[in-house]
Amino acid sequence: MGLFDGKKGVVFGIANERSIAWAITQQLFAQGAEIGFTHLPDKDPERPKNANKVKKLVEPLGAKFVVPCDVQKDEDLDAVFAKITEQFGKIDFVLHSIAFAPPADLTQEVYKCSRAGFSLSMDISVYSLIAMCGRAKAIMNPGGSILTLTYLGGEKVIPGYNLMGLCKSALESSVEYIASEMGADGVRVNALSAGPVRTISASGVGDFKKMLTLYETFSPLRRNITEEEVGKSGMFLLSDMSGGITGETLHVDCGYHVMG
Ligand code: NDP
Repeated sequence: MGLFDGKKGVVFGIANERSIAWAITQQLFAQGAEIGFTHLPDKDPERPKNANKVKKLVEPLGAKFVVPCDVQKDEDLDAVFAKITEQFGKIDFVLHSIAFAPPADLTQEVYKCSRAGFSLSMDISVYSLIAMCGRAKAIMNPGGSILTLTYLGGEKVIPGYNLMGLCKSALESSVEYIASEMGADGVRVNALSAGPVRTISASGVGDFKKMLTLYETFSPLRRNITEEEVGKSGMFLLSDMSGGITGETLHVDCGYHVMG
Protein backbone atom coordinates (compact mmCIF):
# COMPACT_ATOMS: atom_id res chain seq x y z
CA MET A 1 0.00 0.00 0.00
CA GLY A 2 1.54 3.33 -1.06
CA LEU A 3 0.54 6.82 0.05
CA PHE A 4 -0.07 7.71 -3.61
CA ASP A 5 -1.95 4.61 -4.74
CA GLY A 6 -4.61 5.84 -7.19
CA LYS A 7 -3.24 9.39 -7.13
CA LYS A 8 -2.29 11.24 -10.29
CA GLY A 9 -0.33 14.38 -10.97
CA VAL A 10 2.23 16.32 -12.96
CA VAL A 11 5.85 17.30 -12.34
CA PHE A 12 7.44 20.41 -13.90
CA GLY A 13 11.19 20.94 -13.57
CA ILE A 14 13.30 17.83 -14.05
CA ALA A 15 16.48 18.76 -15.95
CA ASN A 16 18.64 15.81 -14.94
CA GLU A 17 19.36 13.31 -12.15
CA ARG A 18 20.48 16.13 -9.83
CA SER A 19 17.23 18.10 -10.05
CA ILE A 20 15.21 18.49 -6.87
CA ALA A 21 12.11 17.54 -8.89
CA TRP A 22 13.76 14.20 -9.65
CA ALA A 23 14.45 13.58 -5.93
CA ILE A 24 10.76 14.20 -5.17
CA THR A 25 9.61 12.19 -8.20
CA GLN A 26 11.46 9.08 -7.04
CA GLN A 27 9.62 9.24 -3.70
CA LEU A 28 6.26 9.78 -5.47
CA PHE A 29 6.82 6.75 -7.71
CA ALA A 30 7.88 4.66 -4.69
CA GLN A 31 4.49 5.49 -3.13
CA GLY A 32 2.51 4.44 -6.20
CA ALA A 33 1.82 7.78 -7.94
CA GLU A 34 0.87 8.02 -11.63
CA ILE A 35 2.78 10.96 -13.09
CA GLY A 36 3.11 13.02 -16.26
CA PHE A 37 6.20 15.15 -16.89
CA THR A 38 7.32 18.19 -18.85
CA HIS A 39 10.69 19.33 -20.15
CA LEU A 40 11.96 22.57 -21.64
CA PRO A 41 11.33 22.35 -25.42
CA ASP A 42 14.41 21.44 -27.47
CA LYS A 43 15.69 24.12 -29.85
CA ASP A 44 16.57 21.51 -32.46
CA PRO A 45 13.85 18.82 -32.75
CA GLU A 46 16.41 16.64 -34.58
CA ARG A 47 18.49 16.60 -31.39
CA PRO A 48 15.98 16.30 -28.53
CA LYS A 49 18.53 16.60 -25.71
CA ASN A 50 16.14 17.87 -23.02
CA ALA A 51 13.41 15.39 -23.92
CA ASN A 52 15.84 12.46 -23.94
CA LYS A 53 17.40 13.39 -20.59
CA VAL A 54 14.01 13.49 -18.87
CA LYS A 55 12.63 10.40 -20.66
CA LYS A 56 15.72 8.36 -19.72
CA LEU A 57 15.00 9.03 -16.04
CA VAL A 58 11.22 8.81 -15.83
CA GLU A 59 10.15 6.28 -18.46
CA PRO A 60 11.73 3.26 -16.73
CA LEU A 61 9.67 4.18 -13.65
CA GLY A 62 6.41 4.28 -15.62
CA ALA A 63 5.87 7.94 -16.62
CA LYS A 64 2.39 8.38 -18.12
CA PHE A 65 3.59 11.07 -20.55
CA VAL A 66 6.54 13.39 -21.19
CA VAL A 67 5.71 16.59 -23.10
CA PRO A 68 7.50 19.87 -23.85
CA CYS A 69 6.57 23.05 -21.99
CA ASP A 70 8.17 26.48 -21.88
CA VAL A 71 6.40 28.06 -18.91
CA GLN A 72 6.76 31.48 -20.55
CA LYS A 73 4.30 30.41 -23.22
CA ASP A 74 0.57 30.30 -22.46
CA GLU A 75 -0.01 27.99 -25.43
CA ASP A 76 2.50 25.47 -23.99
CA LEU A 77 0.80 25.54 -20.59
CA ASP A 78 -2.62 25.15 -22.24
CA ALA A 79 -1.36 22.15 -24.21
CA VAL A 80 0.11 20.50 -21.09
CA PHE A 81 -3.09 20.92 -19.11
CA ALA A 82 -5.11 19.60 -22.05
CA LYS A 83 -2.82 16.56 -22.07
CA ILE A 84 -3.21 16.11 -18.30
CA THR A 85 -7.00 16.26 -18.61
CA GLU A 86 -7.02 13.82 -21.53
CA GLN A 87 -4.73 11.38 -19.69
CA PHE A 88 -6.04 11.60 -16.13
CA GLY A 89 -9.29 13.58 -16.03
CA LYS A 90 -8.83 14.93 -12.49
CA ILE A 91 -5.49 15.16 -10.68
CA ASP A 92 -4.27 15.15 -7.09
CA PHE A 93 -0.94 16.98 -7.22
CA VAL A 94 1.22 19.47 -9.12
CA LEU A 95 4.95 19.90 -8.47
CA HIS A 96 6.40 23.23 -9.66
CA SER A 97 10.20 23.08 -9.45
CA ILE A 98 11.26 25.80 -11.86
CA ALA A 99 13.35 28.94 -11.64
CA PHE A 100 15.58 30.99 -13.91
CA ALA A 101 17.40 34.32 -13.90
CA PRO A 102 19.81 35.54 -16.60
CA PRO A 103 23.37 35.06 -15.28
CA ALA A 104 24.29 38.69 -16.04
CA ASP A 105 21.46 39.90 -13.79
CA LEU A 106 21.73 37.19 -11.14
CA THR A 107 25.41 37.75 -10.44
CA GLN A 108 25.09 41.53 -9.99
CA GLU A 109 23.91 43.60 -7.09
CA VAL A 110 20.09 43.76 -7.16
CA TYR A 111 20.12 47.50 -7.88
CA LYS A 112 22.06 46.81 -11.09
CA CYS A 113 19.65 44.26 -12.58
CA SER A 114 18.05 45.12 -15.90
CA ARG A 115 14.33 45.65 -16.48
CA ALA A 116 14.31 42.81 -19.00
CA GLY A 117 16.21 40.46 -16.63
CA PHE A 118 13.85 41.28 -13.77
CA SER A 119 10.75 40.60 -15.90
CA LEU A 120 12.13 37.36 -17.31
CA SER A 121 13.14 36.05 -13.88
CA MET A 122 9.79 36.90 -12.32
CA ASP A 123 7.93 35.43 -15.29
CA ILE A 124 9.71 32.06 -15.20
CA SER A 125 10.24 31.77 -11.45
CA VAL A 126 6.99 33.23 -10.09
CA TYR A 127 4.28 33.81 -12.69
CA SER A 128 4.68 30.21 -13.88
CA LEU A 129 3.29 28.99 -10.54
CA ILE A 130 0.36 31.38 -10.76
CA ALA A 131 -0.33 30.29 -14.36
CA MET A 132 -0.24 26.61 -13.37
CA CYS A 133 -2.54 27.09 -10.37
CA GLY A 134 -5.07 28.93 -12.56
CA ARG A 135 -5.14 26.03 -15.00
CA ALA A 136 -5.01 23.29 -12.33
CA LYS A 137 -7.94 24.66 -10.29
CA ALA A 138 -10.63 23.16 -12.50
CA ILE A 139 -9.12 19.67 -12.52
CA MET A 140 -7.79 19.25 -8.96
CA ASN A 141 -9.57 16.72 -6.76
CA PRO A 142 -10.56 17.98 -3.29
CA GLY A 143 -7.62 17.17 -1.02
CA GLY A 144 -5.23 17.95 -3.86
CA SER A 145 -1.85 19.55 -3.26
CA ILE A 146 0.34 21.99 -5.19
CA LEU A 147 3.99 22.41 -4.19
CA THR A 148 6.73 24.82 -5.23
CA LEU A 149 10.40 25.12 -4.28
CA THR A 150 11.88 28.14 -2.57
CA TYR A 151 14.97 29.23 -0.65
CA LEU A 152 15.73 31.20 2.54
CA GLY A 153 17.05 34.04 0.36
CA GLY A 154 13.38 34.99 -0.18
CA GLU A 155 13.01 35.78 3.54
CA LYS A 156 16.42 37.18 4.44
CA VAL A 157 19.35 38.68 2.56
CA ILE A 158 21.69 35.86 1.58
CA PRO A 159 24.88 37.14 -0.12
CA GLY A 160 25.01 36.05 -3.76
CA TYR A 161 21.32 35.11 -4.00
CA ASN A 162 20.48 38.60 -5.30
CA LEU A 163 17.65 38.80 -7.87
CA MET A 164 16.48 35.25 -7.12
CA GLY A 165 15.81 36.37 -3.54
CA LEU A 166 13.24 38.85 -4.87
CA CYS A 167 11.68 36.09 -6.97
CA LYS A 168 11.43 33.75 -3.99
CA SER A 169 9.79 36.47 -1.83
CA ALA A 170 7.17 36.95 -4.53
CA LEU A 171 6.79 33.20 -4.93
CA GLU A 172 6.19 32.65 -1.19
CA SER A 173 3.66 35.49 -1.15
CA SER A 174 1.93 33.92 -4.17
CA VAL A 175 1.72 30.63 -2.26
CA GLU A 176 -0.05 32.35 0.64
CA TYR A 177 -2.55 34.21 -1.52
CA ILE A 178 -3.35 31.25 -3.76
CA ALA A 179 -3.62 28.92 -0.74
CA SER A 180 -6.27 31.27 0.69
CA GLU A 181 -8.09 31.32 -2.65
CA MET A 182 -7.98 27.60 -3.48
CA GLY A 183 -8.61 26.39 0.07
CA ALA A 184 -12.35 26.66 -0.56
CA ASP A 185 -11.95 23.88 -3.15
CA GLY A 186 -10.07 21.75 -0.61
CA VAL A 187 -6.81 22.30 -2.52
CA ARG A 188 -3.58 23.06 -0.62
CA VAL A 189 -0.64 25.15 -1.85
CA ASN A 190 2.74 25.07 -0.10
CA ALA A 191 6.42 25.84 -0.60
CA LEU A 192 9.39 23.71 0.42
CA SER A 193 12.38 25.87 1.36
CA ALA A 194 15.35 23.63 0.67
CA GLY A 195 18.90 24.09 1.89
CA PRO A 196 21.56 24.20 -0.84
CA VAL A 197 21.66 21.21 -3.21
CA ARG A 198 24.17 20.87 -6.07
CA THR A 199 22.05 21.25 -9.24
CA ILE A 200 22.37 23.11 -12.56
CA SER A 201 20.33 26.04 -11.22
CA ALA A 202 22.45 26.21 -8.06
CA SER A 203 25.63 26.50 -10.12
CA GLY A 204 24.37 29.90 -11.35
CA VAL A 205 24.27 31.29 -7.80
CA GLY A 206 27.45 33.12 -6.81
CA ASP A 207 28.96 31.95 -3.49
CA PHE A 208 27.12 28.62 -3.75
CA LYS A 209 30.15 26.68 -2.49
CA LYS A 210 30.41 29.08 0.46
CA MET A 211 26.75 28.37 1.23
CA LEU A 212 27.46 24.64 1.49
CA THR A 213 30.31 25.29 3.94
CA LEU A 214 28.20 27.72 5.95
CA TYR A 215 25.40 25.18 6.37
CA GLU A 216 27.86 22.44 7.26
CA THR A 217 29.43 24.63 9.93
CA PHE A 218 26.51 26.51 11.43
CA SER A 219 23.25 24.63 10.84
CA PRO A 220 21.87 22.90 13.95
CA LEU A 221 22.52 19.49 12.34
CA ARG A 222 26.06 20.59 11.27
CA ARG A 223 25.64 19.24 7.74
CA ASN A 224 23.91 19.85 4.44
CA ILE A 225 20.60 18.27 3.56
CA THR A 226 20.53 15.25 1.27
CA GLU A 227 18.51 15.08 -1.92
CA GLU A 228 16.65 12.13 -0.41
CA GLU A 229 15.57 14.27 2.55
CA VAL A 230 14.23 16.96 0.22
CA GLY A 231 12.55 14.24 -1.85
CA LYS A 232 10.78 12.73 1.15
CA SER A 233 9.64 16.10 2.53
CA GLY A 234 8.36 17.11 -0.91
CA MET A 235 6.44 13.85 -1.17
CA PHE A 236 5.02 14.50 2.34
CA LEU A 237 3.75 17.95 1.35
CA LEU A 238 2.11 16.52 -1.76
CA SER A 239 0.51 13.64 0.19
CA ASP A 240 -2.53 13.34 2.46
CA MET A 241 -0.08 13.07 5.40
CA SER A 242 0.20 16.88 5.28
CA GLY A 243 -3.60 17.28 4.95
CA GLY A 244 -3.91 20.21 7.39
CA ILE A 245 -0.97 22.20 6.00
CA THR A 246 -1.49 25.00 3.47
CA GLY A 247 -0.01 28.42 2.73
CA GLU A 248 3.14 27.14 4.46
CA THR A 249 6.83 27.47 3.66
CA LEU A 250 8.45 24.40 5.20
CA HIS A 251 12.20 24.65 5.76
CA VAL A 252 14.09 21.49 4.91
CA ASP A 253 17.57 22.82 5.57
CA CYS A 254 19.03 21.02 8.61
CA GLY A 255 17.60 23.88 10.71
CA TYR A 256 19.83 26.61 9.25
CA HIS A 257 16.92 29.09 9.07
CA VAL A 258 16.76 29.41 12.88
CA MET A 259 20.34 30.66 13.17
CA GLY A 260 20.80 34.41 13.69
P1 NDP B 1 17.36 22.41 -11.94
O1 NDP B 1 18.20 23.26 -12.84
O2 NDP B 1 17.61 20.98 -11.92
O3 NDP B 1 15.81 22.67 -12.19
C1 NDP B 1 15.29 23.90 -12.68
C2 NDP B 1 14.32 23.57 -13.76
O4 NDP B 1 13.68 24.74 -14.28
C3 NDP B 1 14.99 22.90 -14.97
O5 NDP B 1 14.28 21.72 -15.29
C4 NDP B 1 14.85 23.94 -16.07
O6 NDP B 1 14.83 23.39 -17.37
C5 NDP B 1 13.51 24.53 -15.68
N1 NDP B 1 13.21 25.76 -16.42
C6 NDP B 1 13.91 26.91 -16.48
N2 NDP B 1 13.30 27.77 -17.31
C7 NDP B 1 12.19 27.15 -17.78
C8 NDP B 1 11.14 27.52 -18.67
N3 NDP B 1 11.10 28.72 -19.27
N4 NDP B 1 10.16 26.64 -18.91
C9 NDP B 1 10.16 25.42 -18.35
N5 NDP B 1 11.13 25.00 -17.50
C10 NDP B 1 12.13 25.86 -17.22
O7 NDP B 1 17.63 23.04 -10.48
P2 NDP B 1 16.95 22.78 -9.06
O8 NDP B 1 16.41 21.41 -8.97
O9 NDP B 1 17.95 23.25 -8.08
O10 NDP B 1 15.78 23.86 -9.05
C11 NDP B 1 14.41 23.53 -8.82
C12 NDP B 1 13.79 24.55 -7.89
O11 NDP B 1 14.38 24.42 -6.59
C13 NDP B 1 14.02 26.00 -8.31
O12 NDP B 1 12.85 26.75 -8.02
C14 NDP B 1 15.14 26.44 -7.38
O13 NDP B 1 15.17 27.83 -7.18
C15 NDP B 1 14.72 25.70 -6.12
N6 NDP B 1 15.74 25.58 -5.07
C16 NDP B 1 16.97 25.06 -5.36
C17 NDP B 1 17.92 24.95 -4.36
C18 NDP B 1 19.29 24.40 -4.65
O14 NDP B 1 20.20 24.59 -3.83
N7 NDP B 1 19.49 23.69 -5.76
C19 NDP B 1 17.66 25.39 -2.98
C20 NDP B 1 16.32 25.87 -2.78
C21 NDP B 1 15.40 25.97 -3.80
P3 NDP B 1 16.24 23.27 -18.17
O15 NDP B 1 17.31 22.88 -17.23
O16 NDP B 1 15.97 22.25 -19.21
O17 NDP B 1 16.53 24.64 -18.67
